[in-house]
Amino acid sequence: SWGICRVHGQPPPPPVPEAVATWEAISLGRQPVPEYFNFAHDVLDTWSRLEKVGHRPPNPAFWWVNGSGAEVKWTFEELGTQSRKAANVLEGVCGLKPGDRMMLVLPRLPDWWLISVACMRTGVVMIPGISQLTAKDLKYRLQAARAKSIITSDALAPQVDAISADCPSLQTKLLVSDTSRPGWINFRERLREASAEHNCVRTKSGDSVAMYFTSGTTGAPKMVEHSQCSYGLGFVASGRRWIALTESDIFWNTTDTGWVKAAWTLFSAWSNGACIFVHELSKVDAKTILNTLCRFPITTLCCVPTLFRLIVQEDLTRYKFQSLKHCVTGGEALNPDVRDKWKSQTGLELHEGYGQSETVLICGNSRGSTIKSGSMGKASPPYDVQIVDEEGNVLPPGKEGNIAVRVKPTRPFCFFNCYLENPEKTASSEKGDFYITGDRAYMDEDGYLWFLGRNDDVINSSSYRIGPVEVESALAEHPAVLECAVVSSPDPIRGEVVKAFIVLSPAYTSHDPEALTRELQEHVKKVTAPYKYPRKVAFISELPKTVSGKILRRELRNQEWGR
Ligand code: ATP
Ligand code: MG
Repeated sequence: SWGICRVHGQPPPPPVPEAVATWEAISLGRQPVPEYFNFAHDVLDTWSRLEKVGHRPPNPAFWWVNGSGAEVKWTFEELGTQSRKAANVLEGVCGLKPGDRMMLVLPRLPDWWLISVACMRTGVVMIPGISQLTAKDLKYRLQAARAKSIITSDALAPQVDAISADCPSLQTKLLVSDTSRPGWINFRERLREASAEHNCVRTKSGDSVAMYFTSGTTGAPKMVEHSQCSYGLGFVASGRRWIALTESDIFWNTTDTGWVKAAWTLFSAWSNGACIFVHELSKVDAKTILNTLCRFPITTLCCVPTLFRLIVQEDLTRYKFQSLKHCVTGGEALNPDVRDKWKSQTGLELHEGYGQSETVLICGNSRGSTIKSGSMGKASPPYDVQIVDEEGNVLPPGKEGNIAVRVKPTRPFCFFNCYLENPEKTASSEKGDFYITGDRAYMDEDGYLWFLGRNDDVINSSSYRIGPVEVESALAEHPAVLECAVVSSPDPIRGEVVKAFIVLSPAYTSHDPEALTRELQEHVKKVTAPYKYPRKVAFISELPKTVSGKILRRELRNQEWGR
């Protein structure tokens, strides 16, 4: 192909990024997982070298804006220099050693990305958290993780001070701020003074790189441990196939830095050489998102379904996006109606993916694949995804069961190590040869997965099993419905029945509730199997959600059952 390129006078095709080649070789069994792996050393520093010799398009590695004109742009070289300085701060003034744990709770500031890379360079394990954490949440996390250090901003420093006496392992507190605070080290000041010379530690592939607390949608958040290799190499393929990233792309994921999706972006974008775009988003709203897509040459967008639900309420034809060409979503179910509205107004497809803090992408609609509306797409390599029964036996197509990933005889290299300090929970997450996700779905003849709900959210009415998402998606097609959640409600005859909690679109709030209830019930009977229609309907002003925007059906259910 080199010859052909020269004949046509075109430049040769870009080389396949090294991380992609390594990922493929491991997945195909041509190469074992390397004994040593470090994302900063093996991936980021490689991009720096390629950049230097002109083998990478001129777009930055990192591009941050705040909406009021401030901007930070780093090449891979600059990211390298800054993160080496940050590594020296962690090792020097904080005295952190490989394996020590550091909590990282920052708004969407460039410092978050610097510290993440500095942690890799020093072997320090990062524990991202969201900025809305309360003093109680912080105490639970700092104690559970026995973190030695925390870095945060002014907003959360008082909460940390209120509980730090109860966290004996906590030795240093770093502040990202323009002012100083007693008992805290000012990170940016130290960064300015720090040396840019640093030798990256040699980490083993299985060494811990990050710890995540799950969203806590079903109970207390669990501590999930990931390794240099599970995250550092695990996201290469989903970055390339699902998010469709290359060295020329500029990828914006609107997620909070505390969620696992921020790490998904970091690893999938940078392993493929793409630029990470960040907007500070002090307020997350549809108009800011849409205007930002018009102002900047963002090629690739990721938002949670909740946000897309808001975005499609706008008149999208009024916005002219500069460079947007690929959009992904995930984290909770995407209602087909939202995808249809987005697509019809922007001409862009919405590619849904499904995964967990414990895994990388489990399945998704990859670039160029045929999308079946309402399906989460097909298994994402190298995972062998199956629907299994309670004993871990594989079920045939069309049968509802647990979404499961094969972990025996070989645990996939892009899998979490364990639930920390919880061997029972780790053991109980496996049945037979499979890891059980805790989510219910069926797989069709073509291998597409159709999500029904979390285990606890599936409704059992007169022994009909009903997935809340199907009913919610049916309701969402009605113009009166802005958002909705479907849960089980007690019933003397049927045991439990379907109840829908509905937030009405502004145009419908003054309608007669009884007439509207009947209309919505008839609507559901028409668009899905009639037995699924909500026998009970309540109109509410807001749905309970996790801070990441996931609907907390558990809360509505508990309310119904008087728990
Ligand atoms: P916890 O485990 O503490 O209850 P959580 O499961 O919400 O919290 P995460 O790991 O952040 O924490 O989220 C993974 C879960 O999100 C999945 O198990 C699934 O229930 C849901 N999810 C993710 N993507 C999708 C999707 N595309 N469609 C439906 N649900 C999804
Ligand atoms: Mg979970």
